Amino acid sequence: TIGMLCIDKNGDIAGACTSSGLSYKMNGRVGDSPIIGSGLFLDNEIGGAVATGMGEAIMKSVGSFLIVELMRQGKSPQEACENAINRIINTNPNYKDFQAAFIAMNKKGEVGSYCIQKGFSYVKYQEGKNENIPSAFYF
Ligand code: ASP
Repeated sequence: TIGMLCIDKNGDIAGACTSSGLSYKMNGRVGDSPIIGSGLFLDNEIGGAVATGMGEAIMKSVGSFLIVELMRQGKSPQEACENAINRIINTNPNYKDFQAAFIAMNKKGEVGSYCIQKGFSYVKYQEGKNENIPSAFYF
């Protein structure tokens, strides 16, 4: 999955999410990426979030929507991503068997990310510079 969050000089945000889906998926399976609220959610008043990983777990938590709502309540993008991953961990006893990751950005352009398993990273582009940022992780 490729997820993108952007903010322009006026503070307007945009996002996109695209995926080939899980390897060896069942014919006809629809993952989280095309489901607004699961793989991607934005509110131009608050911020946005995108997801990658096990779509079934992300959809069951409506994770990207959850993150934007947590930011609306005052959580930082990092705190909101951690909350959403913790929700997945607490509701999926088999969480050690899969990866799920979120990135989030608020209206100030602050970013955060969190994933279940070590190994996820993202790129932040700002003022002509790319920065590869390893995500914080649960284990
Ligand atoms: N989230 C995608 C899906 O479940 C898979 C991925 O991120 O690789 O369809």
